[in-house]
Amino acid sequence: MKNKHVAVIGAGPAGLEASSLLVSMGYAVTLIEKEEESGGHLKRWHQLFPNRKAGSEVLAILQNQLNGSASIEFNKEITSVKPFSGKFIISTSDGWVTHADSVLMTTGFDLFDARKKEEYGYGIYDQVITSADLEEMFKTEDSLKIRLGQQPKRFGFVHCVGSRDEKAGNIYCSKVCCVTAVKQAIEVKELFPDAEVYCFYMDLRMFGRHYEELYKEAQEKYNIQFIRGRLSEASENKYGGVIVKVEDTLLGKPLKITVDMLVLMTGMVAPLVTSRIRDLLGLTKDEDGFLAPSDIHLSANICEIPGLFMAGACSGPKTIGDTLADARSAAVAVDKYFKN
Ligand SMILES: Cc1cc2nc3c(=O)[nH]c(=O)nc-3n(C[C@H](O)[C@H](O)[C@H](O)COP(=O)(O)OP(=O)(O)OC[C@H]3O[C@@H](n4cnc5c(N)ncnc54)[C@H](O)[C@@H]3O)c2cc1C
Ligand code: SF4
Repeated sequence: MKNKHVAVIGAGPAGLEASSLLVSMGYAVTLIEKEEESGGHLKRWHQLFPNRKAGSEVLAILQNQLNGSASIEFNKEITSVKPFSGKFIISTSDGWVTHADSVLMTTGFDLFDARKKEEYGYGIYDQVITSADLEEMFKTEDSLKIRLGQQPKRFGFVHCVGSRDEKAGNIYCSKVCCVTAVKQAIEVKELFPDAEVYCFYMDLRMFGRHYEELYKEAQEKYNIQFIRGRLSEASENKYGGVIVKVEDTLLGKPLKITVDMLVLMTGMVAPLVTSRIRDLLGLTKDEDGFLAPSDIHLSANICEIPGLFMAGACSGPKTIGDTLADARSAAVAVDKYFKN
């Protein structure tokens, strides 16, 4: 299969895993990445749920297993994929072009822009941050301690920011943010044992293996408070604290709590450029904006155009474990395509 060339678009976990498997099957692979390094969102995560493994450790394994065996093109944002005479023409908007016999889309997700939920104050109040910001602060604990002062009293985590929210235009669940909130709440409690930590949720979706145990540990060992209710508003007091208004829907009471830091659990959205490529190719438009497989049960990695495949979070929110399994399944689908 050395004469068959596969272009993999996006060098996040999905792109890295699929590329290394395709290379081991004998295909010539070009991995194309818009940023200057590989890793996608994983390079931002400090410790991973559910077992608190270092994100950098998992990333190093994915990068090392590729080990120079695929050619990687960095700083190339693909804006167009066109089928042409049984092949594909892949290009960037500034004129870089390559050709391939097959294309695997692994363009992942973007984070919901928390500024769109103006009432939560992201980009307005200093102490309102996102879960992705907090993950980066954990990498250098001192930056978090300096930002807060040594004795913060209270932290709040707001679930479902930009997910399960008709006003934000996204009614789907982003899957990973409930368990990320639980993991981050525990990490905050370990750093600041005397602080009170609150999670404001609509429903808790602890669907994965060991997630429920983590949630139990958060309540029983760390005394993290879970309050069912949607945040209506956040504002700043004169000391820089954030005043949070929530309707506790279990007690049927409005609550007002002042926190030192408010963390918004922003969900996953489909990258604009992925939707543009989808529209260019005339692929089915799913309401949530993610790429739609030709059959959700039987061919989850196969697009409607022969030779075009997808893997990872570009077809919907996924954990890293699910992403890697999906990437391996996509590589098998590409192999089957060439062998048929
Ligand atoms: C706050 C947060 C914390 C998380 N923590 C965990 C965790 O602890 N454990 C866990 O299992 N999962 C976690 N996840 C989920 C995890 O991040 C995803 O499962 C994983 O990143 C998906 O990998 P991917 O390769 O599909 O997408 P991505 O990581 O998004 O990678 C996509 C890659 O494609 C590139 N790209 C995109 N468009 C183009 C283009 N047009 N041209 C070229 N390149 C392009 C991007 O630059 C990127 O490198 C978390 C998610 C969030 C939001
Ligand atoms: S995983 Fe939890 S926080 Fe994330 S969208 Fe789903 S219910 Fe909301």
